[in-house]
Amino acid sequence: MNTATLFDTQVPQSDLAQYDVILVASSAGKDSQAMLDYVAECARAADVTSRVVVLHNNLGRAEWPGTEGLAKEQAAHYGFRFEERHRAQLLLEEIRARGMWPDARNRYCTSDQKRGPSRKLITELVAELGIPRVGSRPARQARVLYCLGLRAEESSGRAKKPVLSVDDAASSGVREVVTWLPILHWTEAKVWARIKESGVRYHWAYDKGMKRLSCSFCVLASREDLECAARLRPDLAAEYVALEAEMGHRFKADLSMAEVVASAGGAA
Ligand code: SF4
Repeated sequence: MNTATLFDTQVPQSDLAQYDVILVASSAGKDSQAMLDYVAECARAADVTSRVVVLHNNLGRAEWPGTEGLAKEQAAHYGFRFEERHRAQLLLEEIRARGMWPDARNRYCTSDQKRGPSRKLITELVAELGIPRVGSRPARQARVLYCLGLRAEESSGRAKKPVLSVDDAASSGVREVVTWLPILHWTEAKVWARIKESGVRYHWAYDKGMKRLSCSFCVLASREDLECAARLRPDLAAEYVALEAEMGHRFKADLSMAEVVASAGGAA
């Protein structure tokens, strides 16, 4: 791959070296995997691989079996440090406690189960840097590059996001956190080509028909993916149907889990 192609997403080699910490969020899904392969190539070229940390936010049984192990395996392939974090109250327990499913306008699943634990890890990683203090303040701000595998193709909201942006909410006098979406403008075909070229193992659920990974039953997923997941994980599907009935709240406004299971072939 030539340099022009390698650095086609707004963080040239010299810039990557300006960050003290390069944190890569990994769901172990295809987009995370392709992004990790790309970030690895950029980090090698900038000679900063020791600064890369891969984070998997574990959602508990809501995510596909084997996901955390795969995220760890993928990080190990590149020789990167791996960290797993999870909220004390895992996703299904949180949904039950709230009595409602998340949705596109209220994605508490992402903010509580992913963003919150990620920020705690950033705090730990910045502390590890041991930046000397001058009086009560550090001598300089730590610089953190937070890499996410979002793609514009997935939604109009994502398509409007910048490739690079300062995360003011995560930044402070101690640190500046910059969010990088290195594969924002990649197509799905490009993602799969990158994965196949890397030779790194990808999650088995894709070969069973899933288009996206992360939660087996995502409130933003297509009906096709939800039905596929219901056939692959009938026990979890039954748990979702029971939770839906218990809460009296439909999984999606236009689609209940009971309907998903029924049209998937009565998997639960
Ligand atoms: S995969 Fe879907 S349901 Fe799960 S945390 Fe992400 S947005 Fe929420």
